[in-house]
Amino acid sequence: MALVVQKFGGTSVGSVERIRNVAKRAIATQKEGNDVVVIVSAMSGETNRLLKLAHEVIAIPEAREMDVIAATGEQVTSALLSLAIHAEGGQARSLLGHQVKILTDGAFSKARIKTIEGSKIFSTVKKGQIAVVAGFQGVDEHGDITTLGRGGSDTTAVAVAAAIGADACEIYTDVDGVYTTDPNVCPSARKISKISYEEMLELASLGAKVLQIRSVEIAMKYGVPVHVRSSFNDSPGTWVTGEDKSLEDVVVAGVAYDKSEARVNVIGLHDKPGVVADLFSSLAEKNVSVDMIIQNATTGASDRADVTFTLATTDLVRAKPFIEEVGKRLGAQEIRYDQDVVKVSIVGLGMRSHAGIAARMFRILAAENINIQAISTSEIKVSCLVHEKYTELAVRALHDGFGLSEDKSAK
Ligand code: ADP
Ligand code: ASP
Ligand code: MG
Repeated sequence: MALVVQKFGGTSVGSVERIRNVAKRAIATQKEGNDVVVIVSAMSGETNRLLKLAHEVIAIPEAREMDVIAATGEQVTSALLSLAIHAEGGQARSLLGHQVKILTDGAFSKARIKTIEGSKIFSTVKKGQIAVVAGFQGVDEHGDITTLGRGGSDTTAVAVAAAIGADACEIYTDVDGVYTTDPNVCPSARKISKISYEEMLELASLGAKVLQIRSVEIAMKYGVPVHVRSSFNDSPGTWVTGEDKSLEDVVVAGVAYDKSEARVNVIGLHDKPGVVADLFSSLAEKNVSVDMIIQNATTGASDRADVTFTLATTDLVRAKPFIEEVGKRLGAQEIRYDQDVVKVSIVGLGMRSHAGIAARMFRILAAENINIQAISTSEIKVSCLVHEKYTELAVRALHDGFGLSEDKSAK
């Protein structure tokens, strides 16, 4: 007998009809002789609706109350699924984050899981019931409700699987698995049958929202094999697992894009030691995370430098006053902001052993007349910031250019 964790995302529980299908799948898995723990997201669109409601009441809502509101989406689906399982003749019990208990730190809206108690889940499945755990939510040491960040039900699933020593962690979603790029943007995207934790981690952190970054980090840390697959069919999906030699052969495994960053251009700063340190320490003090950074000399002024960086668009309103203040102090002549940007990235373990991949990426973008505004690289990825209007074009050109559209199985 195996212990199986199955997570169903927003689209998969998006209607009563779909919740019934999930109920049938969970019951079928149990009938095969398994103990079943199901993790559910809120119905699709629900979390956005709830967050918007709060913003209609007040412009900057208190973080603690936002989490109380946002967590209700998953509360509703967990009970609905439990009822649907009863309606289909099975037995189930809904469990909220604080009932399980999923203990997190107190960082509302981006809480991190500290510990998960297995006893409630074990006693539930021992009674022959399917444990239906509300994803995305936890409780901090003061008893306050927390949420794990957008897409956080993936993290609940992997963390629960690790905590209870599950034999399988299945992530059911609205696509057949992890693709070489977002199949909703690039029609020639192909399903990947197996991908390493490291590559998945990069893809997730560079915008591929099919798995939340934190869920991949936990899977990698505890060695939880994750199977990403469709809730609408029985086709095998993608296995996210440890590296093996065959994965190293792939130079570029996938292309990702991220529209959630904004570019800030600080022009004409004094060019002397400590200026850049000052600028970024001031931002760090205010808890603003910066992603890409480039510095160059201001055209025509030998004692001046320009610094360009990107940060989350959601942080921009809050960060603007600090940027203006510190920029002025450091002699900036002008500060420009641009939200119409997208970061396109290529990811692959094979980059470690192949030279010239970045140059090839730049050439592919140049051939499409796409101007690159900023670049960042790491061992297994290259990212370029370009105008947002080129998102589809850039993704498709890179996908084709690196041979990802070709049917490898046919060769
Ligand atoms: P769920 O609600 O099931 O958690 P999400 O919407 O969070 O689903 O994630 C699935 C979506 O991720 C897909 O519909 C797809 O548009 C997007 N996506 C982005 N990059 C990829 C990729 N490389 N492979 C598969 N899906 C991707
Ligand atoms: N409902 C949450 C969200 O929309 C968590 C999730 O679906 O994973 O972000
Ligand atoms: Mg998701």
